[in-house]
Order: sequence, then structure tokens, then C-alpha cells
Amino acid sequence: MEAAAEPGNLAGVRHIILVLSGKGGVGKSTISTELALALRHAGKKVGILDVDLCGPSIPHMLKVQGQAVHQCDGGWVPVFVDQAQSISLMSVGFLLEKPDEAVVWRGPKKNALIKQFVSDVAWGQLDYLVVDTPPGTSDEHMAAVDALRPYSPLGALVVTTPQAVSVGDVRRELTFCRKVGLRVIGIVENMSGFVCPHCAECTNVFSRGGGEELARHAGVPFLGSVPLDPELTRSLEEGRDFIQEFPSSPAFPALS
Ligand code: ADP
Repeated sequence: MEAAAEPGNLAGVRHIILVLSGKGGVGKSTISTELALALRHAGKKVGILDVDLCGPSIPHMLKVQGQAVHQCDGGWVPVFVDQAQSISLMSVGFLLEKPDEAVVWRGPKKNALIKQFVSDVAWGQLDYLVVDTPPGTSDEHMAAVDALRPYSPLGALVVTTPQAVSVGDVRRELTFCRKVGLRVIGIVENMSGFVCPHCAECTNVFSRGGGEELARHAGVPFLGSVPLDPELTRSLEEGRDFIQEFPSSPAFPALS
């Protein structure tokens, strides 16, 4: 059942981007994080909602793990990543007592928290809200789509790897989007090629171009290929801004 459209804490958000992937480990949180950083570099105000409840990695990637979420009259105040408050983040990671605590919740409790993240966080005025979702297509995705739908324009960005394209994970994501009436903004192929840490040359370890071909076949935009760059892994480990520090990386053009 579609939620009733009523103004809420997302009323000041201009665009919402749901980041989806067929399975874990393909770089969904990486792309969500780099997308937010790229939008900040473009002068936009960005929020990130991390609804990957069982694997919240974005606080670590943005070096704000362990921060506390406070309450204000408008609800929960998200954690600001920078002094200029151009990126704000809400994640279940901020609500756990210990950083390595596991979220062992049944579906209804997870869905309730996702709805609360949408209605009870004081997001303020944002150009973009980037929503990092769990892998696959689960109840949590339905809960997120239902809660966010009144606040459209809402679109999905699908992240894949060259291998995932061949096993049909992306097709399942595209089918999910079609079934729930979610516009697909485009497909990003991540880990396509490997950037040599010595000479920065990019080698295609796996087959390349599958994401682009699939996008053409499905009639959705192809947004770019991001190679595996050890500098990007390190930047995310250390909570640094890859786009600012490595403009000559072969991963830079697609990420920026
Ligand atoms: P997911 O959210 O899909 O589970 P992550 O974004 O957490 O995947 O990525 C898994 C790991 O791979 C992380 O350690 C991340 O730093 C690394 N990673 C992802 N994409 C790249 C890339 N293009 N280059 C280098 N490391 C990457």
C-alpha cells in the first residue's frame, strides 16, 4: 500500500537517490560515499541515509564512527561529516553501543527503524539524499521505498561488478525497480579493472563492458566504470577524500 504523501522531515530534500546492488561486497557503500563527496565538490548539500542495518560501513568510510546522534525539536540530528555541514549522515552504526555489535533484529523491527530514519531525522534543506541500502531485494528495500516514495523525485542507482552482471544479480535489481515503480537513474560498473599501485596503469582482470551492454539492453543509462584502485581502498579505510586527493587515478573520472 502506498504511503500517504505528507510533509515530513524530508520535505526540504530536492532529490533522493537509492543505491542498490544485487549482492554484498560489490562496492555499494563505496559508491554511495564517493557520490556524496563528489556532490559536495559540486557545491551541493548532501545527506546520506545508511539503511544497510546489518553492515553499516559508511560512518567508518567518512571517519565519523563512534559519534553520537542527538535529539532536537525536529527529531534526531544527523551527524555532520564536515565543519561546513555540507554532508550529514544517519546510520544505525551511531545507535549501537559497541562498534562491532551485531544487529540481530527481525524484519518488523528493521522496517520500523527505516521508517523512523525517514520521518524522525531532522535533515533540513538538502540538494540530495543518498540512501545506501542492504544488498539484494528484501523487506528493508520495500520499507525504504514505501517510506521515501512520497518525497520523490526518487530514483535508483544500481551498482554492479563485471562478474555480477553475468550471474543475473543486476537483472533482479532492475526487475525489483520495475515492480515497485522506481525510476532507474543508471548502472555503475565497479571493480572493472585493476589500477596498478606502481604505474597506475589499469588492467582488465575480469571481462569489461558487461554493465554497459546490460544497461543498453535494459534501456537504462550507463553511468560509468570504476576500476579497483588500492588508493581508493586505503582512502575509505582512513576516511579520506579520494576525489580530492587522487584526481589522476583512472577511478577518478567515473567517481567525480
Ligand atoms: P558493499 O557496500 O557492496 O558491501 P563496499 O562498498 O563495502 O561494498 O566495498 C567492499 C570493499 O571493497 C571495501 O573495503 C571497499 O573499500 C572496497 N572497494 C569497493 N570498490 C572499490 C574500488 N573501486 N577500488 C578499491 N576498493 C574498492
